[in-house]
Amino acid sequence: MPMFMIGVNAKGHRGWYTYRCDICNRKLSVGDDPIYYCQKCVNSNTNARFCLADARRLHFRCPYCGSELTLYH
Ligand SMILES: [Zn+2]
Ligand SMILES: [Zn+2]
Repeated sequence: MPMFMIGVNAKGHRGWYTYRCDICNRKLSVGDDPIYYCQKCVNSNTNARFCLADARRLHFRCPYCGSELTLYH
């Protein structure tokens, strides 16, 4: 009788989203990195997401519309 290792590889990295900073293109993992975004621009399909360093440089203002950036949680 053959013994099969039935693949149970669900190591639970699902539901892990990553975005890219729109300025430096750094990969940002939701839950790992602080991600700042502009609600208004994201809603109109602009990738207005930024890493902490760039958000700071922008004084937490969206470079596209000037709204305040929100911390993605
Ligand atoms: Zn950045
Ligand atoms: Zn904006």
